[in-house]
Parts: sequence; structure tokens; C-alpha cells
Amino acid sequence: MVDYCSIEENKLISIKQALHLIKQSISAIEGIERIVLRQAQGRILSSPVFSSINIPSDRNSAMDGYAFSSADILKNQSFTLSLVGTSWAGKPYTGKLNNNECVRIFTGAVIPDNADSVIMQELIETDGQKIIFPANTVAKENIREIGGDIKQNTELLPAHKKLTAVDIGLLASAGIYDVAVKRKLNITFFSTGDELCSIGQPLKTGQIYDSNRYTLNGLLNDENFNIIDLGVITDDKQRIKSTLLAAAKTYDAIITSGGASVGDADYIKEVLDECGDVGFWKIAIKPGKPLAFGKINHCYFFGLPGNPVSVITTFQKIVSPALQQLSGISANKPLSLSAICKSELKKQKGRQEYQRGILTQDEQGQLFVKSAGKQGSNIMSAMSRANCYIVLPVDSEGVLVGQKVLIEPFDTFL
Ligand code: AMP
Ligand code: MG
Repeated sequence: MVDYCSIEENKLISIKQALHLIKQSISAIEGIERIVLRQAQGRILSSPVFSSINIPSDRNSAMDGYAFSSADILKNQSFTLSLVGTSWAGKPYTGKLNNNECVRIFTGAVIPDNADSVIMQELIETDGQKIIFPANTVAKENIREIGGDIKQNTELLPAHKKLTAVDIGLLASAGIYDVAVKRKLNITFFSTGDELCSIGQPLKTGQIYDSNRYTLNGLLNDENFNIIDLGVITDDKQRIKSTLLAAAKTYDAIITSGGASVGDADYIKEVLDECGDVGFWKIAIKPGKPLAFGKINHCYFFGLPGNPVSVITTFQKIVSPALQQLSGISANKPLSLSAICKSELKKQKGRQEYQRGILTQDEQGQLFVKSAGKQGSNIMSAMSRANCYIVLPVDSEGVLVGQKVLIEPFDTFL
């Protein structure tokens, strides 16, 4: 087990180090459940799945045309075969071919015994029950061999795969009815802050609407999570402590926002020092302030900053990979692309910045990015306009118009 607190409190760690620590300290949950295929999209396979059949199970035709034996081909000459029947998809021709015979065949239909080739229907001519093949007829074409896609007893999908619609189709093609997947994670979250007002209530002077809980609710929308919103907890040390201790008994993970700094009303750190094995990390990213990460008994804890944009960035960069690992998938590295910057970007050395950008592509395929607007960690409007992060490395001191930058597109690019 990693000592979450082993990092000196004021030392900045890189995002790479933070992700490495997460990788070392989180092991995937063990519980599994069997579910029917129709409910499995987005869930995570707990073990590899093998095919009990060959796909295809029979030799079949890739074309509408005529099945014949290549032994009947006359080199560089047209030749004529007698049409003796039809092989339909699902209704095979049951006889076998004799010399100089062929059958009409449709896509997906079983190739009759003694046939080894199919010619496209567009390439032949007919003369009553005679089929005239051209001089350049090719042997052994348009046949889908047994197991040509998947061989019996081979692996269809590996363990830890998050099932896509395509995977579901692949499993169905092997006749698989149900699969063993990781159980869902039980995750809870709450906001802290005396100034927070839940939507649906009128704002009083000095209050702001709590947006973080609604953002987190959306960010946690995943087939592998059961989520519970615990609402707003005021800046009251005892309430925060009792809420955390009770939640830690029930949930796999708790996520909070706000109160994680060292202001007079920031109790998260004090409370966690008393009841958990939790470290406070200063990650060298912007937006993103000190982030609390660790465990309270068996429950993982993520204490995010209060500023709404910081919540999103720290969730995407730290919490999401951690939850993926806990669910049993290894997180993919985000897609990173090079784009020409159309805005001047200001930056100071010292932290890796995830500036909010708007990515476009011209007709030649060249990517361009411009700033989505003000870059403060409270500016949700720019975050909402953005469709990518512009990733500026620790040592960057800003970007001039026309310079190349690395961008990470959001899922909803363009
Ligand atoms: P804190 O980390 O509690 O010092 O909060 C930092 C900033 O984020 C303050 O301006 C808070 O008012 C704001 N903030 C904290 N929690 C939320 C929330 N749930 N929704 C919107 N803003 C918040
Ligand atoms: Mg606060």
C-alpha cells in the first residue's frame, strides 16, 4: 500500500507522478456479476471471452453469383456449366456438384460440396439452364472459409475490456447470451461551502448556486457507477466528519468539492487528518489546486478544489483515471494532436496548463485552435464553449499566434 501522505506538503508533483501514484495504490474491485448481452454495453469484462464456434461455421459465399469447381475452368477460354440448383442463405443446396455443373448462390449461402469458387453474377451470361463463364474466370474467389473471422476456442475479447456496441455485436455473432462483468462502483459526492445554494431555491445575498454537484453528477454518468448525491454540507467540521465517516462505510469512493485549501473555513484537510489515510497533493497543473487523495477505511477519497473549472479538470485528469482503475479498466492516454494556435496565450513557467480552447479543422485537414475566452478557474462559460484543452507544458512561457501547440479534444469534438 502506498503511503498517500509521503509527499511533502508543499512540494509540487507532476501529473505523471500523480497518475503513477494512483496506479500503484488502487487495485480493481473484485466483485463480478453475470448480465445479459443487451445490458452489457459500457460494462467491463471480468474475464476473457472465448468463442465456442467457428465464425463462419460453414463455408459460404461472399457474393451473389454462381458456385462451381475450379477443376472445370478452361485456361484462357470461355466455358459452359449446367445449372443444377440454388443455394440460398439459410437454405443450402443439399446435393453435391458433378463435373461441369454449377449452382446459383446468394451471399451468405453455404458452398455446395465439390464447389470451391464463386463467380459474381455480373460476369456470366446465361443460355437457358447453361451458364457461360468468361475466359478470365478466377479460381477459389469469393469464398468465406470456416473460421475465417474467428476460430473455435480462440479469444473474442480480453478481460478488462469496456464493451462497445461493436463488441456486443461481436459477442452476439458467437451466440454468446450473457457475460461476466465487474460489479458497478458505488460512488457518492457532496459539495462543501456556507455560500452554496441548491438550484430551485432563490439566491440570498452572498450566495452562489452550487454548480459542482451538477457537473459531478454529469461527469459520473457511466454504466459502471451507481451514484448518490449527498447535497451540500455547510462549513461545519463535525458535519463534514460525520458525513464522511458514514459514507466511507457504504461507498467505494467519495468525491467532495470545496474546502480543500487552507482557509479558515476549509475543514476537509483537518477532518481527513483525523479520520483517514489521506495525502494532500499539490499537482503542478492549472487549473487545479491542492487535491486530497487517499482512503478512509476501504473507501477512496477525492477532495477536489471548489472552483468549478478546477473540479472538471482535476476530475478528468486525476479522478477519472483513478475510478477507471478501480472499476477494472486501465485508462487510455488522452488523444493528443498538434494544432496551429490562432490566439496569443499567456502563461507563467511552473505548472502544466490545460487552457480551454476551440478547435477547428480546415478543408485540407489542418487543425487550428483558439482560446475559448477568459482562463480563470471560475469561468464556466469558457469551459462550456471549449471543445478541447490546449496543453501547455510546465516550462512554456506562453504561445504566439501561429505557433504549434498540443491539444486534447473533448469527446464531443465539433
Ligand atoms: P473553496 O475551495 O471552498 O475555497 O472554494 C473556491 C471557490 O469555489 C469559491 O469561490 C467558492 O465559492 C467556489 N465554490 C466552491 N464550491 C462550489 C460549488 N459547489 N459550486 C460552485 N462554486 C463553488
Ligand atoms: Mg469553501
